[in-house]
Amino acid sequence: MLLTDRVRSFGAILVNMAHGARRARFSIAHELGHFLMERHDLSKDDGFRCTARDMREERDDTRHHKQEAEANHFAIALLAPVYKMLTCIDDDPDLRKLQMNSDELDLSLEATIRRYVDLTGEPVAAIWTKDGRIRTAKRHRDFPWIPRGRGDILSDLTQASRAIRNGKMGFTDAAESPAAAWTDRDGVEIYEQTRVGRDGHAVTLLWADLPDDDDANDGEPIEIGMPGFGRSRRRK
Ligand SMILES: [Zn+2]
Repeated sequence: MLLTDRVRSFGAILVNMAHGARRARFSIAHELGHFLMERHDLSKDDGFRCTARDMREERDDTRHHKQEAEANHFAIALLAPVYKMLTCIDDDPDLRKLQMNSDELDLSLEATIRRYVDLTGEPVAAIWTKDGRIRTAKRHRDFPWIPRGRGDILSDLTQASRAIRNGKMGFTDAAESPAAAWTDRDGVEIYEQTRVGRDGHAVTLLWADLPDDDDANDGEPIEIGMPGFGRSRRRK
């Protein structure tokens, strides 16, 4: 929480250390964002009390959501500035590199991957699972739609599913994945890589090789289920 007043004549940040230093650093940066963005309305008479949900807010449909999303954007830009993410952004998608980047930034792997998905030009997506069920996901705007949601089980056909069942902690190598396991779009090749962590947690990074016509799409929203045409572009 941030104790302050409307005109920010003083400020004090109180942070819960129970979930580790990395999460605490993010919380401090988030509250600093509220403090510096003076137009943010206090959420309580004596300042801001932000929940775990607020710390993940990305929506802008209400004033509260928008303020929380802005504080999160401030925090991630402070903790993971673009120039410190370039080794990942300039290279092929790779969870091992993202793990190294996360350690360098002293930021959680999840926050690092989310930042990467926002910054990269590659059509990637990340899916976090617990015991093989989807917990949350984040996708680049160009990544083909995933017809799966929270609580869904990953397809047996995927390397991710096999790695999770196997339970051995660590990274898989990147491999081509059955595209139908992730998308209902035609003409898409998908590659996947998984990191299996503790207690049934895992993260899978996907990236898509889109049909040629998507290259000229220039980031316009793609209709779900729109068929692809033309031959696939090979990755380097
Ligand atoms: Zn907040």
